[in-house]
Formats: sequence, C-alpha cells, structure tokens
Amino acid sequence: MLTDRFARVSLAHLPTPLEPAPALRAALGGPPLWIKRDDCTGLATGGNKTRKLEFLMADAVNAGADCVLTAGGVQSNHARQTAAAAAKLGLGCEIILDETLPSADPDYRNNGNVLIDRLCGAQVRRVPRGTDLEAALTERAKALMKAGGRPYVIPVGGSNALGALGYVDCATELVRQSRETGEAPGLVVHASGSAGTQAGLVAGFHAAGADVPVLGICVSRSAPEQAQKVHRLAQQTLDLLGITAPIAKDRIQTNSDYVGDGYGIATEAMIKAVELTARTEGLLLDPVYSGKAMAGLIDLIRKQKLPTTGNVVFLHTGGAAGLFAYRSTFGAGGGPQP
Ligand SMILES: *Cc1c(COP(=O)(O)O)cnc(C)c1O
Repeated sequence: MLTDRFARVSLAHLPTPLEPAPALRAALGGPPLWIKRDDCTGLATGGNKTRKLEFLMADAVNAGADCVLTAGGVQSNHARQTAAAAAKLGLGCEIILDETLPSADPDYRNNGNVLIDRLCGAQVRRVPRGTDLEAALTERAKALMKAGGRPYVIPVGGSNALGALGYVDCATELVRQSRETGEAPGLVVHASGSAGTQAGLVAGFHAAGADVPVLGICVSRSAPEQAQKVHRLAQQTLDLLGITAPIAKDRIQTNSDYVGDGYGIATEAMIKAVELTARTEGLLLDPVYSGKAMAGLIDLIRKQKLPTTGNVVFLHTGGAAGLFAYRSTFGAGGGPQP
C-alpha cells in the first residue's frame, strides 16, 4: 500500500463494508446507491476519525507522549474517538470543547459524544465559542510540558497530512472493493468539515490513478473556502507520500447549499434525511455531518443535478452517537434545535 512506510497502530475494523442501499435508492429514484460503512470502524461507536488516528496515535507513541490533546465542538466525534484511542493505548487524553452552540439543552451538553469522552476517562475542558482552538491547544501543551508532561497535540478533526493518510487508504480500499462488486463508483459523496477526509480521498484516488470524483458536502464553510482547504491539504498529503504529480484545483468539488444556519445547527432537510435513511435502510446518520451530506445527496438526486449518471457511493462517516445529543430535534413536535 501507498502508506506502508508510515507507522500505524491498529484501531479500526478494516476494511469497512461497501453495501448497496436498494430501498433508499427506490425511495429517491436516481442512480445505484452504495454506502461505504466508515460508521463501522468500531472504536467507541466508530466513525471516520479512527482511520486518521491509526497514524496520528502511532506518531504520538513513537514521540514518547504520555498524553494526547485535541479539540472540537461540544459534540465532537473526533474528540470522542481520540478519547477512546488514548484509553486503548494507555495514554492520557485532554479535550478542549468549543461551546459552538449556545444551547442549554442538557442532552446537547452532556449526552452523546460528551458522555463517551467521560466514560473513556478523558479530561474535558470547555471554552467560549469562537476561541482559537489551535492556540488553546499549543498553550495547554506548553503548560503540561512545563509540569514535566509529554503531550502530543492532534489538530482539530485529526486533519493534517499524516491523519489524511487514513483516507488515502480508504480510497485504495474503495477501488479494490468496487472491482470485486463489478460496480465502479462514478462519484463519492460525503460530509466535509476539517477537510482531512476529502483531502485524503482525493490524494488517494489521484495516487492510484483512479479518476473518481469526490463531492464534499460542506457542514460549516462556504464551498470555495472548503475547496481551497481541501486542495491545500490534498497537496500536502501527496508531498508526504513523495508523489509529485500536482492536483488541479478544479478537481476539488464542494457544495455548501446544505449547511443551513451553521455548524451543528439542525435543518429540516437534515431531519428528513436522517429519518428517511433510518426508515428505508435501518441506517443511522448523524445530525451534524452525515445527515446534512445525505440531505444534499437526496436534493441533488431529486433535482437531477447530481454530477454523475454512474454509481454513487455515499461515504458514511459515522457520528450516530450525536443523535442522543439532539433528542429534542427529533422528538415529537420538536423543531430544528439546538
Ligand atoms: C469529522 C466528521 C466529518 C468530516 O470529516 P473531516 O475529515 O473533518 O472533513 C464527517 N462526518 C462525521 C460524522 C465526522 O465526525
């Protein structure tokens, strides 16, 4: 594999299944639909950060770290998977949570991912919305070093070139699996946030000489900003792999029509997408990422604006633990909150 020379620890159940979604397809019309089940990576309810953490945690161990630090929004799936990985490897874990939404809902504040952070023994600190998280991580790492600790900082979302290697491998895995099923993907669609997933996939397909387009449905930024972030990180990932062939900027596809009022804020389309996917496939999406990505996919299929006529692979990036934080959003008569 392209990533063989990089150290990794085994955290994920791999390869994740690639499954057809016939009932969802029938409900929508449109092209054949497959789901790449990265919600099944297995670590404390799974998700996409686990692939990145295989490389990042190996680097932490090799650096002699005694604890890892990371940050995210209150219901960060990345923080939860990092807490679980640290627990499994016997490292300490500190998490800085940005009070992204000014929600007083006790489920949002303490259930879902936050409950799991605590169960895995992570120390959780909350900081006001808008705090510079990278600066807060650096500052906390300095304080720990001063006290004799050996902290290792993992960036928000695990999205640096080393973390993105996890999705270089996922691209290779998808190419192999679709050869086995005989169904070549015409398009991969997924939720794009801190950009490591999309950057890794784009770099991986590029390196494998497989011309599979990847459409990132944005959950926070505008489409041009997200495309720039993805492009930069994809290029850095190729550099790390020692591959010199550059990626053209117009290879990066992003769509920000489904963000709604902002990161983590529910939309009616997300609620409908989560319900439809549960009711047709028995498959659980999440309110912040995969629910909005599916809302986008559904809308593009219905409006016949999907940029492919071939097979569509929806990369399910996980996050269902977050559903329990959004109970009121899905409850009887519950509006789109928090
Ligand atoms: C983090 C996350 C994403 C986005 O992945 P990035 O690599 O940050 O772009 C998508 N879905 C879920 C469930 C996530 O937790």
